[in-house]
Amino acid sequence: MNFELSDEQRMIYEYGDQVAKKYDQQYWLKKARKSEFTRELWDQVSEDGFMGIMVPEEYGGAGLGMLEMSLLMEGMANNGIPLLSMVVGSTMSLPVIADHGSESMKQKYLPDGCAGKTLFCFAITEPTAGTNTIRINTIARKKGDRYYLSGQKTFITSADESDYALVVARTRAHTEVDKKTDGFTLFVVDMKAKGVSMTELEMSVVLPEKQFQLFFDEVELTEDDVVGTVDKGFEVLFESLNPERIVVSSMCTGIGRLALNRAAEYASDRVVFKGPIGAYQGLQHPLAEGKTQIELASLMTRKAAWLFDNGKPAGEASSMAKVAAADAGMKAVDASLQCFGGNGFTDDYGLYDMFSVVRLLKTAPINREMLLNYIAEKSLGMPRSY
Ligand SMILES: Cc1cc2nc3c(=O)[nH]c(=O)nc-3n(C[C@H](O)[C@H](O)[C@H](O)COP(=O)(O)OP(=O)(O)OC[C@H]3O[C@@H](n4cnc5c(N)ncnc54)[C@H](O)[C@@H]3O)c2cc1C
Repeated sequence: MNFELSDEQRMIYEYGDQVAKKYDQQYWLKKARKSEFTRELWDQVSEDGFMGIMVPEEYGGAGLGMLEMSLLMEGMANNGIPLLSMVVGSTMSLPVIADHGSESMKQKYLPDGCAGKTLFCFAITEPTAGTNTIRINTIARKKGDRYYLSGQKTFITSADESDYALVVARTRAHTEVDKKTDGFTLFVVDMKAKGVSMTELEMSVVLPEKQFQLFFDEVELTEDDVVGTVDKGFEVLFESLNPERIVVSSMCTGIGRLALNRAAEYASDRVVFKGPIGAYQGLQHPLAEGKTQIELASLMTRKAAWLFDNGKPAGEASSMAKVAAADAGMKAVDASLQCFGGNGFTDDYGLYDMFSVVRLLKTAPINREMLLNYIAEKSLGMPRSY
């Protein structure tokens, strides 16, 4: 067993420290408070070659794996610049096209996607089905050699900035299939296509990425727009869920670490009675506990990424990492906020905004309860409740 990062992996992990010299947390906060896309940061990350980190080099990517992707995201979050748009684009969309798209699809989408010139959003959630993906109703009906996509998606991150959406749709209704996971197909949908429209959702979480409802009204698609095999999209989708959990875990541990470091520094300086407030164990121990939990969650995240990269089952470790990281992130930011007293709630310190991000990540992209369901069922062999 080797816990040491290679030189390249360390460089990737420390990239967040480098890029944050130009685009720091204050930059992110300024954008997030205006719900304005972090275009300059996006372009910089792209220019530095990290947008297509998991895409093979022949298609413009870096040809690296899940571990490197998660190190990149953790390193950026360590600096308070977490990008949800990279979860849906660099993690959920580009690698899926690289792994399952046709050769012409890869040529068409990957080089520009890796260069950051085009953006992808990922659309699965529907207002009625919610967590129960099996019950999605968005359907692509085949007529001749065309598909016509109709339906509605919700909470689609960065739909406004995206050139394409990777859409999870049904090609057969759930009432028409024997196996409940059959009848799903993934399509690349051009956001400018006739029949695509969107409305923005008013959100209270502070993020630079806006969220949207997406509407499809008989959007014309062809076989060329299918990622993977028609009716067998669930297998493709399933493969992208572990990477999503892993990068989200990395974001949570990074944010937690940032908050703890800031709080430790602040509490070591701030004097209100005799010595620094950081000497009080009432403040010290929650930070130390937070640090312990963050590093444990970070370790599990790396294990999950390693399992994924080595083609081993990664569902259990990814789920545990996400539960642990979101919990640890919330506790760490909460304990840190306490050290800052009133300052924790001011715009200058930007900590409360970070709390809203880690809190979001307890619920989305997959809620804590579904992950615990998975762990209870798969790891402990307990009966399924839903
Ligand atoms: C900011 C943001 C960005 C998002 N980005 C995207 C995106 O880009 N693309 C996309 O497709 N989706 C996106 N989502 C959607 C997100 O994945 C869903 O909100 C999430 O999966 C939960 O679905 P829901 O909101 O319908 O909640 P529901 O399904 O209504 O569930 C509500 C709650 O019920 C509980 N629950 C549900 N089922 C069970 C069960 N079986 N056992 C125990 N408890 C259960 C959970 O606590 C859950 O939080 C985003 C959401 C947000 C808020």
